Amino acid sequence: MEETAKIWMNGRLVDWADATVHVGAHGLHYGTGVFEGIRAYETERGTAVFRLTEHLERLHNSARLIYMDLPYSVEELKSATWELIGANELPSCYLRPIAFSGYGQLGVATRDNPVDVAIMAWPWGAYLGEEGLRNGIRVKVSSWQRVGPNVIPHVAKATGVYLNSMLAVGEANRAGYDEAILLTAEGTVADGSGESIFIVRDGVIYTPDLSASILVGITRDTVIQIAQDLGHRVVEKPLIRTDLYLADEVFMVGTAAEVTPIREVDDHPTPPGPVTYEIQQAYLDTVHGRSDRWGQWLEYAPAARAQA
Ligand code: PMP
Repeated sequence: MEETAKIWMNGRLVDWADATVHVGAHGLHYGTGVFEGIRAYETERGTAVFRLTEHLERLHNSARLIYMDLPYSVEELKSATWELIGANELPSCYLRPIAFSGYGQLGVATRDNPVDVAIMAWPWGAYLGEEGLRNGIRVKVSSWQRVGPNVIPHVAKATGVYLNSMLAVGEANRAGYDEAILLTAEGTVADGSGESIFIVRDGVIYTPDLSASILVGITRDTVIQIAQDLGHRVVEKPLIRTDLYLADEVFMVGTAAEVTPIREVDDHPTPPGPVTYEIQQAYLDTVHGRSDRWGQWLEYAPAARAQA
């Protein structure tokens, strides 16, 4: 991780090295936290954060689902985000807001523990590698199932849930694959460890519907809208693992991974194709501010907005 100058923590900017927590923090012991992954891009009109409002709204929804009261509103967190980007002088970056149960009691139930909130910002390139973005990655269906809706609310982007993702991607990496795909307990396709899944078959785009244990991905929503606007038919429905093997194209999407082609699933070749690259291009043009067609999703720094 590339260190930057400042981290926003509980209402103020602190030096990177000073943004520490006590080992007794509840969130460290029990995974009682919620977080977001957001990207800011350098555009001709200045730094823009992609769908910042939706990400911060999801953070609030995640907190509600684990009975956590966030001490900052969406608007306050937005201001904090811009303050942080400005202080670190970052034209583009990855942003990581996190809220967790802090130091206080250490029983499993959170009683009067404070809720600590921080935002980090640092440069982060292609999550699955530049080569992966261009030519596709190799993925493995995981032996770990995605957490079910009555296990932990998977709709929440909660820190504890990511033990599930960590085991899946670790297993895949140790077996020589780049990323994992998790299935639900019922055997339908859910998510990558940090990405939503799409396939293309006979000219139609499919993605698991929201009844599967998936995170409601903001990139998933973006890609569905872009694909439909480009004239593609998009169907949200349950998929099984053989749908991945027989697909004409498979790709995964997420804030970090953007639109990454998948060239092999469990050693079945799924060479990246025209639909994946068309959507990837439209997505990258949008987030970098090169295309105005979906420009409503870019939120600009207040200073850049004033000039526009
Ligand atoms: N699924 C999982 C399990 C994830 O962790 C992520 C990353 N947040 C995604 C999907 C993609 O979500 P988004 O497009 O909102 O980044």
